[in-house]
Amino acid sequence: MGEQIVWFNGEVIPMSEAHVGVEDRGFQFADGVYEVVRFYNGRPFTLREHMQRLQRSADGLKLRLPMSVADIGDEIVKFIPRTGIREGSVYLQATRGISPRNHKFPENSSSTLLFYAKHLPPVNEPGQGEGVKLLAVEDDRWRRCWIKCIGLIGHVLAKNEALSKGFDEAAFVEGEIVSECATSNIFAVLGGKLITHPVGSRVLPGITRLVVLECAASLKVPVEERPLREEEVRRADELFISSTTREIAWVARWNERYIGQGKCGPITTKLHRAVRERVRRETTGPIPSADAA
Ligand code: PLP
Repeated sequence: MGEQIVWFNGEVIPMSEAHVGVEDRGFQFADGVYEVVRFYNGRPFTLREHMQRLQRSADGLKLRLPMSVADIGDEIVKFIPRTGIREGSVYLQATRGISPRNHKFPENSSSTLLFYAKHLPPVNEPGQGEGVKLLAVEDDRWRRCWIKCIGLIGHVLAKNEALSKGFDEAAFVEGEIVSECATSNIFAVLGGKLITHPVGSRVLPGITRLVVLECAASLKVPVEERPLREEEVRRADELFISSTTREIAWVARWNERYIGQGKCGPITTKLHRAVRERVRRETTGPIPSADAA
């Protein structure tokens, strides 16, 4: 395979030829937003939802995107076949662009917009694989977690703390409340009910989270969107995390404590099968419209 390509401010060029300026506000202030879209069989999954979230994130930073999110979606659809990758993800980033360093928003800056793709191995079959080990860490992030901002240092530090202690993922806890994880949303099953923290200041509106909730509704699994207490997590019948790259991954451990029966629980498996079915339906027919209007 040839060199990796990148869509960079409207042109498709080799990665080695794409350069971001020293005074790009993304580099200096983390003044930018991003998205990660999974594609299966060369077709993006839930592209419209990702583009809608991109618009909300940009609005949250008062950042003007250089083109409409519908057009960005169309560019992504055209770009994927050029990468030669069939199973993977697109990473997209938009920043407020280059201007002399100043906290004040520049009057006229042209934003930097780029995206590129990478291959991803298939995720585990529902119910299979080793369970995820979660480490609880203090949630000291900013309170605008609904914005998918490139300023991820709180997430990066938490994730690395978890990895360095032999865990797979960090779960944010503030007081008694479990909000989300460093790179995923979290769900608990207690007495047959699915519980997850509402999105907003402390929780990213995960696109996979949305798909899981839609699947739960169609499977008639009762859902409570409310703050989840750590004490509930510790005694949960089932615990799982969701994200674009993982779909659903069952949790085997919370700190030193084993969750459920040490294997993937039945509701988690059922929900993952439903997510899979939705992926299959939406990535085998015609390429979905990227129109986010
Ligand atoms: N929460 C955080 C902090 C994340 O970084 C992510 C994904 O990277 C998620 C949740 C899951 O979101 P999505 O399902 O849209 O990938």
